[in-house]
Amino acid sequence: TSIPNVPLNNGVAMPQLGFGVFQVPDDETTAAVTSALEAGYRSIDTAAVYGNETGVGRALASSGIAREDLFVTTKLWNSASETWTRDNVLREFDASLDKLGLDHVDLYLIHWPRAVRDDYLAIWKAFGEINESGRAKAIGVSNFQPEHVRRAIDATGVVPAVNQIELHPNFQQAEVRAFHAEHNIVTEAWAPLGQGKGLLGNATIGKLAEKHGKTPAQVVLRWHLQLGNVVIPKSATPSRIRENFDVFGFELDADDMAAIAALDNGTRLGPDPDTFD
Ligand code: NAD
Repeated sequence: TSIPNVPLNNGVAMPQLGFGVFQVPDDETTAAVTSALEAGYRSIDTAAVYGNETGVGRALASSGIAREDLFVTTKLWNSASETWTRDNVLREFDASLDKLGLDHVDLYLIHWPRAVRDDYLAIWKAFGEINESGRAKAIGVSNFQPEHVRRAIDATGVVPAVNQIELHPNFQQAEVRAFHAEHNIVTEAWAPLGQGKGLLGNATIGKLAEKHGKTPAQVVLRWHLQLGNVVIPKSATPSRIRENFDVFGFELDADDMAAIAALDNGTRLGPDPDTFD
């Protein structure tokens, strides 16, 4: 299977399916990422705060896969500094590169807007500089509401390539997705499987899984892909890692998509970006 790429607004190609490593301990991350690379994943989503950039870097280095065939994302953590300046953003970025053992990442994201502190404009300016230096091929944001994105664009003229947001059938974010489409920003879904909580046991999802001879997780990932989202499901279990990759050989029809659309009930699993610090 080869993964389709989505074009980012600066011409960089991003795999539509990647592998997330949130909550995977550093000493288990090398094995998990190695399983993912063996299954065919080429895009890995980590973050400074996950504490496993070193484990990701080890798996990348020992994989033998050419750097240009990999797509690596990491994120600047909220409270790495109390007061953001250009210099401490660059310092945090250097620390991430160091741990990953890389000379560039493919995508660097601001993890949360910290709207309460109102400091993301200074960070976004420094991100522009990192992007121009070639050490992050693309830059973007995460958990930004449209108003935060709009302000960042107005202040710098630089449009984020990606906004990585909580998005799953119980929290579909239609307005944010429409805003992204209007501004040529790729929507990347975190918790694409609803973090493996109630969603995968939902009866509608179960019926669709039976209809297509697939698992609930595969149906949910297929829904994301057909909407155009980038997805980064997480698992530490090799069989599930492979299962989550095997989502390109079937198609949900319009009725299936409508049935899943009806599952939107506004359930956020993570923090609210307007208040999370
Ligand atoms: P997810 O929706 O990917 O769910 C992962 C959980 O679902 C697993 O721990 C497991 O319990 C279960 N699961 C996975 N595959 C399964 C399968 N095939 N069958 C049954 N159960 C299965 O949730 P996530 O890890 O929170 O999100 C994915 C990635 O998104 C993270 O690893 C991380 O990289 C990223 N993320 C980003 C943010 C952010 O603030 N930007 C926040 C959370 C996660």
